[in-house]
Amino acid sequence: MIVDFHTHTLCSDGTQTPDELLRRLDERGVQRFAITDHDALDAYAALDLTALRDRVVTGVEINTTYRHNEVHILGYGFPVDSPVLRPVLANNAFEREQRVLEMIERLTAAGYRVTMEEVRAESAPGSPLGRPHVARALLRQGFVDSIDGAFRSLLRRGGPGYVPSTYMHPHEAVRLVRESGGVAVLAHPGRLDDYGIIEDLAGVGLQGLEVFYPKHDPNERAHFRSLAQRFDLVMTGGSDFHDPGYNQNGVGMEVDPSDLAGFFALLER
Ligand code: AMP
Ligand code: ZN
Ligand code: FE
Ligand code: FE
Repeated sequence: MIVDFHTHTLCSDGTQTPDELLRRLDERGVQRFAITDHDALDAYAALDLTALRDRVVTGVEINTTYRHNEVHILGYGFPVDSPVLRPVLANNAFEREQRVLEMIERLTAAGYRVTMEEVRAESAPGSPLGRPHVARALLRQGFVDSIDGAFRSLLRRGGPGYVPSTYMHPHEAVRLVRESGGVAVLAHPGRLDDYGIIEDLAGVGLQGLEVFYPKHDPNERAHFRSLAQRFDLVMTGGSDFHDPGYNQNGVGMEVDPSDLAGFFALLER
């Protein structure tokens, strides 16, 4: 079946409206999906959740830094008006803004002068800021020739414009998702340098692993499948779509339904 449990809209750092994303999901024949904006649930307000109830799963992505790795926690299936999740996400969004200010300072000191106004102009009003907005401002100012180039030269972990996300510990993100009634999943494990983090998080309540991800090669997929089995984690999959320009595979992941049965069972609990 075709699913996509990892997508972004301009309610965080994607470039498509929720409706535009939905059109892409429809065109691709995606049967079940989640929008996992960073620290934001606004996309769900733009969708007809009653009409989509058999297809849509609520979702969110919380980015953290842990053991010198970027550790992204996905949450699924919580009530969209969760009083547990909402205030914490609002605080994370505030912290993201502070972080972008710090990135701007570092970039300016390194000779890449961008302003908060320019970064904000690359985002929808009220949406949490992130590195892709900074990357777009750098691109518009002509400092880089692509979004990917901005990440490779300036914004990657350890790069001159990089500031880690230190406002939330991944253990806290897992606990928060569970407390809100959601299912906690580790995003794109292939991006980790330290796979030991998977076992560590499994020990504090992590429930799933994003085994199916466009950038995982067949060996990585097989490895993460075996780790999911070993640590009793369900498997999920998603494209991490943000923009047709820099996600050229578009939306949707083809996954055998039997590989998703554990995830679906957790969502129904
Ligand atoms: P942040 O949450 O501010 O740390 O930004 C992380 C976001 O940047 C994630 O959603 C990634 O999808 C995105 N990202 C990371 N590397 C790249 C890249 N090379 N090109 C485009 N987006 C990227
Ligand atoms: Zn993103
Ligand atoms: Fe992520
Ligand atoms: Fe993402």
